[in-house]
Amino acid sequence: MSENYDVVVVGGGNAAFCAALAAEERGARVLVLERAPAEEAGGNSRFTAGAIRFAYAGLDDLLKVVELSEAEIGNTDFGTYTREQFYDDMGRVTQYRTDPDLVELLVERSLDTMVWMRGKGIRFVPIYGRQAFKVGGRFKFWGGLTLESWGGGPGLVDSLTKSAQSRGIEVRYGHRAVALLHRQGRVHGLRVRVGRDEVEIAAKAVVLACGGFEANSEMRCRYLGPGWELAKVRGTRFNTGDGIRMALEIGAMPWGNWSGCHAVGWERNAPEFGDLAVGDQFQKHSYPFGIIVNARGERFVDEGADFRNYTYAKYGRAVLEQPGQFAWQIFDSKVTHLLRDEYRIRQVTKATANTLEELAPKLEGVDAARFLETVRAYNAAVAEDVPFDPNVKDGRAARGVNPPKSNWANTLDAPPYEAYAITCGITFTFGGLRITTDGQVVDSDGVPIDGLYAAGELVGGLFYFNYPGGTGLMSGAVFGRIAGTGAAA
Ligand SMILES: Cc1cc2nc3c(=O)[nH]c(=O)nc-3n(C[C@H](O)[C@H](O)[C@H](O)COP(=O)(O)OP(=O)(O)OC[C@H]3O[C@@H](n4cnc5c(N)ncnc54)[C@H](O)[C@@H]3O)c2cc1C
Repeated sequence: MSENYDVVVVGGGNAAFCAALAAEERGARVLVLERAPAEEAGGNSRFTAGAIRFAYAGLDDLLKVVELSEAEIGNTDFGTYTREQFYDDMGRVTQYRTDPDLVELLVERSLDTMVWMRGKGIRFVPIYGRQAFKVGGRFKFWGGLTLESWGGGPGLVDSLTKSAQSRGIEVRYGHRAVALLHRQGRVHGLRVRVGRDEVEIAAKAVVLACGGFEANSEMRCRYLGPGWELAKVRGTRFNTGDGIRMALEIGAMPWGNWSGCHAVGWERNAPEFGDLAVGDQFQKHSYPFGIIVNARGERFVDEGADFRNYTYAKYGRAVLEQPGQFAWQIFDSKVTHLLRDEYRIRQVTKATANTLEELAPKLEGVDAARFLETVRAYNAAVAEDVPFDPNVKDGRAARGVNPPKSNWANTLDAPPYEAYAITCGITFTFGGLRITTDGQVVDSDGVPIDGLYAAGELVGGLFYFNYPGGTGLMSGAVFGRIAGTGAAA
């Protein structure tokens, strides 16, 4: 072996760089190996909007992380997102299956890790528009998601990369880890593919932060179930489960919700993998203000069950389960001003019309007659006496239809109508490796594997069934930092 590092980090996304920065902080000589070429580097982290969930008790906590102008402070209700709320959200959306040790670290270290990231040069800004609507001249944040990284995902990855390189951390692109070198219960390096060659690199510790298996259609079908090979991949094409496979090969314990994943409503004609020029804009997340119908012309989810942050990650699966794996979202002019900016990109499959009768045949693949019946029944069920308020769960419901719509129900009767076609876009997989509270990978006997750490998507046990928006980046940061610290020690 020609080269020798204290810590080698596998991956080039948020979790990897947080691990690398934490290891460097402890005095380690660190190498980051990124499978993608530089122009496609940064993993799913680069595809994000950079929205990041953390607990804060009020404005004073926020000001530890973000600079706010007097005007922003004056015209915004930032509210709080307490640790208790974060625990409740993680418990509720995962049906109380989330690993208590991991969730405790995630929640308790979230604010402190944000402050640490800021110290490493990462800037954050409030998510006006997407996470706060202006009502009565004032913004109000909802759903526990208040800040995003400056410049979104690309800005985050750029800042992390610069921060790492300025501290002497070496980053190599086009380097794919293919196997862990392992002797007598201890990981001591990696085999790495570079073009057609393979090299071995020695390390006192390895941190795996190379994503889940969402971009591997065979593994998706094997673990998530039949049909999942048909989903579009929202992000990087490079997260093919290498890290999980390498660790399982040396006896690591599989952990968490292997048949579960984060998947959303995504432009029906989007490419098979993410497109960095479009980023997350293929998503269509304003459905709480409209209705969604399938090929039969029928609704199949409660679009207003909760804030989008708590439903969007499970509704992709619901779309995949529909005939033809597609659906249409329908809005009228009462709410189109609330639609997120992603509805205004060029690459949308869209239909518009001035009457519902004119719209129905334009919804490609949909039973038009049944669609009109669905809208008639839905319109008749809307509780028009309850005021509409997008900033709170307003209880303006449509009941007596199946499924009901629990909040933000408005009749569809104000032309022009707009409709958007979606399919299922998978974000990342939930199953992965079991780690200790020091970020060390555990073997199938429950014994920590010396020299092997993990962080980010490939850690199992945090998410089951569903996910609160903005937690992927926070989890990568918290557990990346923990893993890097552990690896350097
Ligand atoms: C479109 C989209 C929008 C999203 N929006 C948000 C959001 O706003 N907020 C949020 O919290 N989460 C969001 N997420 C989820 C979030 O991206 C992930 O949870 C998080 O970024 C995962 O970080 P990670 O470092 O574990 O993985 P990644 O960022 O995916 O990094 C994994 C890295 O490993 C590399 N790699 C893979 N295999 C190998 C190998 N064998 N050798 C070397 N390198 C390898 C990949 O190239 C990649 O660089 C979004 C995801 C997508 C796709």
